[in-house]
Amino acid sequence: MEEEKQGSIFRRICVFCGSSSGRRKVFSEAAIELGDEFVKRKIELVYGGGSVGLMGLISKRVHEGGCNVIGVIPRALTPNEICGETVGEERVVEGMHERKASMQREAEAFIALPGGYGTMEELLEMITWVQLGIHNKTVGVLNVDGYYDKLLALFDNFLEEGFIKPCARGIVITAPTAKELLLKMERYAHDSIST
Ligand code: AMP
Repeated sequence: MEEEKQGSIFRRICVFCGSSSGRRKVFSEAAIELGDEFVKRKIELVYGGGSVGLMGLISKRVHEGGCNVIGVIPRALTPNEICGETVGEERVVEGMHERKASMQREAEAFIALPGGYGTMEELLEMITWVQLGIHNKTVGVLNVDGYYDKLLALFDNFLEEGFIKPCARGIVITAPTAKELLLKMERYAHDSIST
């Protein structure tokens, strides 16, 4: 019961995730579970807008749970037949670059759920911006049932082969469940504020 009232160091988190739901049920379940954790912690959601795939599942869950949802969507993707309806507040931007810049400004942290190229591109840009010192926001990867194991192994290889520094490898926080990931991200953000 105590947990139900739990707050968070984060007021608003941006989630990148598949515009599809993937083949396995675990991915949809993880999106819903992450939505529930946002509601428990009263965290607002920033996402790419629309109602397709995992994006639709998490946005509906957070909205129905009574937390604010902001969908940042490029004008070209606004017709409902492309992305479906956005729940909560819809912010229309002119293009993909503006969308990412706006998502970055609006959120205090980022989480990638399973997804494809779009999710990857958004995740890697946020990691790169931390590496370059453009922002210092926490970046988490929800490694649902090992979905991102190969990506994380590739990051280890970047380090091993000398293309990133150990501190850059440490940018990405990972966990297999929404609850563990948020706890780790909250601890990481707390420690970076106090050091
Ligand atoms: P993907 O992982 O390739 O499915 O792309 C998902 C990510 O790219 C999301 O986080 C969105 O920001 C963006 N995106 C890709 N396709 C769409 C779509 N049909 N509607 C809204 N956003 C999308």
